[in-house]
Amino acid sequence: MTPDLIGRAASRFDLLELLGGAHQRVSATRGGEWAGPCPLCGGRDRCRAWPHREAGPRAWCRGCGAEGDAIRWAMFIDGRDPDRPGETGRWLRKQRVVLPPVCSKPPCAGPSPAPLRRLPPEEVAQLWTDSWPVTKGRLVGDWLESRAIDPAAVEAQDLARALPPRGKLPSWASPWRRSGHLVLLPVHDWAGRMVGVRARAVTTNVRVKEFAPRGQGSRGLVYASPAALEMLRGTPAKRVVICEGWPDFATWATRLTDAVLGIYAGAWSDNLAARVSDRAEVLVRRHDDAPGGKYAMQVARSLAGRCRVAVLEPAARGGVA
Ligand SMILES: [Zn+2]
Repeated sequence: MTPDLIGRAASRFDLLELLGGAHQRVSATRGGEWAGPCPLCGGRDRCRAWPHREAGPRAWCRGCGAEGDAIRWAMFIDGRDPDRPGETGRWLRKQRVVLPPVCSKPPCAGPSPAPLRRLPPEEVAQLWTDSWPVTKGRLVGDWLESRAIDPAAVEAQDLARALPPRGKLPSWASPWRRSGHLVLLPVHDWAGRMVGVRARAVTTNVRVKEFAPRGQGSRGLVYASPAALEMLRGTPAKRVVICEGWPDFATWATRLTDAVLGIYAGAWSDNLAARVSDRAEVLVRRHDDAPGGKYAMQVARSLAGRCRVAVLEPAARGGVA
């Protein structure tokens, strides 16, 4: 594989998302310099990134010395050595990276997307450890049943948990007991790592029924069934169902053994698309509105030519909406 092809493949990855999404912009040097934690050595702020550099995105960690473009970082994070001869080509084929068409526009033209942000991982992990099974939290179990979703199946697949009714909560979750947002929904990144939670209300008399805590964001984050987690972590899947929103995701994740992903309109990313198995049969379910149509189009386009994609129009679907 030529350096030019690799460079084009690298532009399909979102460098800031690869680095964990917690980087903050620190200066305007070379199209903007970002600083944040290193996904390799765990250093808190010594990993520098230039995602909009004219010659292409690049990052360098002053702690462990890792450096390179998005492909090199993705390989480091996957435990591969990009300096081994032939390894990059093998890895890209394994990732089923689709090379973008040749484009005469300068790289990184146009407005740059806002950097992703994430919650402190230790706070997310602690909340998850302290949470209750959905079958033990009565209000959460009742809410699931009201949506025709089986709480026992949700528990068995770890698709949601109940906010712990007592004890200390992280500051970003502390209003949820009072507001009634008692359902915790785990969200995963492109590599199948649980990086956050969303909170869902058990009652309907709330202003916002579901949200991501401040500081977490939504872009590039998915709900994933056990088979979908395996796929994100590198095991190919034959059939993939992509749903819009948690209730539809949980409805199908509890009924199918296929890889089922749940995503919000606008949150799909190239890094996620690259993890969907080659030649997979992909079914995209969408809401009956404009953002739903746009999301389905974006997902379908990102997989076109590599997977067999069908978009299930809202009018055509039966079962639980
Ligand atoms: Zn490092």
